[in-house]
Amino acid sequence: MIQLQNLVKDYGTLRAVDHINFEINKGEILGFLGPNGAGKSTTLRMITCFLPPTEGNIYVENYNILNNSREVRKLIGYLPENNPLYIEMNVYDYLKFVAEIREIDNFKMRLKEVIEKCGLHGVVNKPIHTLSKGFKQRVGLAQAIIHDPEILILDEPTSGLDPNQIMEIRELIKELGKEKTLIISSHILQEVQAVCERIVIIHNGKIVADGSTEELKSSFQNKTKLILNLIAKEEEIHGLVENVGNISLLSTSKKTNDEIETLIEFDSQVDKRGEIYNYIKQQDWVLLEMHRDKISLEDVFRNLTIEEGGE
Ligand code: ADP
Ligand code: MG
Repeated sequence: MIQLQNLVKDYGTLRAVDHINFEINKGEILGFLGPNGAGKSTTLRMITCFLPPTEGNIYVENYNILNNSREVRKLIGYLPENNPLYIEMNVYDYLKFVAEIREIDNFKMRLKEVIEKCGLHGVVNKPIHTLSKGFKQRVGLAQAIIHDPEILILDEPTSGLDPNQIMEIRELIKELGKEKTLIISSHILQEVQAVCERIVIIHNGKIVADGSTEELKSSFQNKTKLILNLIAKEEEIHGLVENVGNISLLSTSKKTNDEIETLIEFDSQVDKRGEIYNYIKQQDWVLLEMHRDKISLEDVFRNLTIEEGGE
């Protein structure tokens, strides 16, 4: 179990992590989601003892990371963002080097095991810099699990990979995570949705949501999302939002030369459809279609992490 208590990290005057609290239970697969700059890597660096917190506590299996970093490092396997590797070394030598730092006794056996698990047979004697990104990531995963840790922490493990490599690495992560507690960070919802049971969303250093996919969606069912297909001038559509009030414009897109598809959202407690229709009539726009749309997790994420003042 991992516990984060009132965790804060300041870089000079910038508060990158702002009093966050959450727990991760044994065996859980947690997606740590947030836009770029939200504070994900900073949080993960603190859990993995690479960065001291400014305030607050972290416990890993009841070890306080500040007093027991040796024990904590043994329990955790970590693949940092951008997977820093010694690219001049060949795969075998690099993994052996990591095993030595980790002071693993039976390192030959462990090396064999991780090479097998991570599908590195064909490349053990190749210098790392000659490998594809997908294989470099496999090496990164191999070094993270070499000491057979209970907890695996992966910081944006599929970023920069092509779609095929993403599928492969995802499968590998699923496999490796089977008997472990797993934390995967990402700025892409689909990424964590594909693998994780629970999602914690961080934004501007603060936790803005924590729950299962279904829980997060249902917490947003109090919003109604409306799709309007209109014949109107795209640049005039913002007038709708300004005039009706208490509705927000999620997007507009041109379907054809004339037809604009507009996505609108409002609080389900007040039905805004009548007012919206009246404004459309008043403007002499043609309403081709109006229907409700289901809230997706993507909407939840967008809603929680959108910057004030729009994009
Ligand atoms: P994420 O991983 O979610 O993209 P980070 O934890 O890397 O976010 O960064 C959070 C904030 O802290 C960002 O505003 C980033 O610019 C800043 N930051 C990250 N690392 C440093 C650092 N070493 N020194 C100063 N500011 C940093
Ligand atoms: Mg990051």
